[in-house]
Amino acid sequence: MRRFTYETFAARVVFGAGCAQGSLAAEVERLGARRPLIVTTPRTAPLATTLAGPLSVAGTFDGVRPHVPVETVHQAIELAKRTGADAVLSVGGGSTTGTAKAIALRTSLPIVAVPTTYAGSEVTPVWGMTEGARKTTGRSPLVVPRTVLYDPDLTTTLPAAMTAASAMNAMAHCVEAFYAPGANPVTDLVAAEGVRMIADALPAVMSRPADAAGRAGLLYGAYLAGSAFGAAGSGLHHKICHVLGGAFGLPHAETHTVLLPYVAAFNEPVVPALRTRVAPALGADDTARGLTRLAARIGAPASLAQIGLAEDDLDTAVRLVLEKDFGDNPRPVGEPEVRGILTAALRGESV
Ligand code: NAD
Repeated sequence: MRRFTYETFAARVVFGAGCAQGSLAAEVERLGARRPLIVTTPRTAPLATTLAGPLSVAGTFDGVRPHVPVETVHQAIELAKRTGADAVLSVGGGSTTGTAKAIALRTSLPIVAVPTTYAGSEVTPVWGMTEGARKTTGRSPLVVPRTVLYDPDLTTTLPAAMTAASAMNAMAHCVEAFYAPGANPVTDLVAAEGVRMIADALPAVMSRPADAAGRAGLLYGAYLAGSAFGAAGSGLHHKICHVLGGAFGLPHAETHTVLLPYVAAFNEPVVPALRTRVAPALGADDTARGLTRLAARIGAPASLAQIGLAEDDLDTAVRLVLEKDFGDNPRPVGEPEVRGILTAALRGESV
């Protein structure tokens, strides 16, 4: 058994169809909170209002925007202070949870999170905020929601493209957890089960969006993915995605889906667990091919070219990616390796 450090992030997790409606008020009261501030988007605001029905809320902030701009956080904090909020009730996807986390970072208010996508942010200590074009991220126990209510019924309204993209983002959290800096035997265990749940449930949900068992499997897989990612941290794959998203405006989740098999294929020779744990959970002989097959089954894009990267962008992309520090990747990463991964992913070459 290898030596390891495993830090868990305490959160009370309530999971089950209908739990958001049935248990939210009791869970908020359990924290001793009386006047939570609802944080949500315009699209999820009606749901948040319904769920919070029995509670005496301080107010509703529905100005959540992608990438958590600091101005948005200031507005939400101002509303929380003005209304005497004593907790944050976050109802929505990763951007909403991210906004709630930023509020908590500055105010120490406890968060009750009701996730409606598969982002997994609700169980990680990672926060991020954007000021102008600059994104700052960090880790703090202050931002970990105190209670998370996972209700698969709330995810049935996710459009198909968003379901696929969000679930493959969770899949990337699981796969990357096997070689990210904090990877350990416990994150291996959690992430392997996450892979299995997502791979089993996603094709079913894509053909039947209201499939209750499939939606529950995906949300449970997303919870496991977030837990593994929160403890293991991010690695090669997330760093490349971050560069491609920032420099070329490629869509975050689709970039994950396309790139993941190529990064997995690159690391597989030096990370035996990818072959022994992840591939079987995908029902495949190797991880890269298992991921490609899953992506094809759900009709996901197969090349970076399809989602907006041009051949002419390749040199710039390689140069920008190489500005990152890959010292913690288990296989050395230099110019030829980055060029190889990006070229293959750009053209959708077979793995
Ligand atoms: P999102 O939160 O930006 O939501 C996208 C859109 O989907 C929004 O318009 C939202 O209103 C809508 N939506 C949400 N749930 C819905 C539902 N059930 N039905 C219909 N529409 C719904 O997207 P996301 O993919 O959940 O989150 C992405 C963000 O989360 C990224 O910025 C990413 O960096 C961040 N993230 C952070 C962590 C972390 O640990 N800090 C982890 C994963 C993702």
